[in-house]
Amino acid sequence: MEITVDAESKEFWDGIAAGELRIQRCEACDQAVFYPRALCTHCHSDRLVWTVAKGLGTVYSYTVAHRGFGEFAAQAPFTVALVDLDEGARMLTRIVGGTVSIGDRVQLNHPARRRRLTRASLFCAGGMSAVGPLFNPRSIALVGATDKSGWSLNTYNNLIEHSFGGPVYLVNPRSEIVHGVPAFASLSAIGAPVDLAYVMVPTAAVLAILEEGARLGIRNYVVLTAGFGETGPEGERLQESLTALAEREGLTILGPNGNGFINAAAGITPYGLPIPAPLLSGPVGVVCCRAARSRARCFPLRKPGTLASAC
Ligand SMILES: [Zn+2]
Repeated sequence: MEITVDAESKEFWDGIAAGELRIQRCEACDQAVFYPRALCTHCHSDRLVWTVAKGLGTVYSYTVAHRGFGEFAAQAPFTVALVDLDEGARMLTRIVGGTVSIGDRVQLNHPARRRRLTRASLFCAGGMSAVGPLFNPRSIALVGATDKSGWSLNTYNNLIEHSFGGPVYLVNPRSEIVHGVPAFASLSAIGAPVDLAYVMVPTAAVLAILEEGARLGIRNYVVLTAGFGETGPEGERLQESLTALAEREGLTILGPNGNGFINAAAGITPYGLPIPAPLLSGPVGVVCCRAARSRARCFPLRKPGTLASAC
């Protein structure tokens, strides 16, 4: 299951991660608002502020599910209830530890852990306003660049052929020359500011690269490498370490298991599949969560003035 975290719901999900139930309250009419949104559901004011709810409430209605789908199948039967929080908002929740009746008092005992985003997701610690720097880097490092990888060659060729305006640094600890140009042994060896690191090292090495990058002040990453949440519990744990690092260091990560993006408007193309020339730009942006598909979907849109960006 995947959850999209947008600017409006980020505070709620951050609260869940911190073990708090955060809901909005309207300063204009003093009523609680849940789920997260931009305007008050009672008076349509935009003066919504975040508050921490105590998690105490009264059962308004409930149902017992005897069949579940996916990961819930093994947990049936379980109780799903509408609970009126003491703060005034009504929320959907699961009841654990026994049966309930309408009117029962219940306490939210532990907010569910936030589901980590899996494939080709965008994790953005600074909120959606932080994606601007991700899509507009002035310098790019291709980490794990190698002549043996088509992804590496495509990404490098895309940046060169579509005239990326800044320096492109190739990083490979074992080859002095990659794609015909001198390579650096590590991110640290570059010795110049890097706005975006495009990471294609083996799965087990990704975390260390991001840690090194974070120490160097690199805030934006594309992670091409696969083998994370989509592969099972071990990959999920690895992905949680990435997410924790991103949260701690304020990193923006597009991926893992993502091909990158095409900012056609600015001529910035860190993207792992060949992009046909010429690069056309226009007012439409496309975002796909299965990156390999975005190429198939976007390039048929290539009429003059249509394609702005894809990732
Ligand atoms: Zn209101």
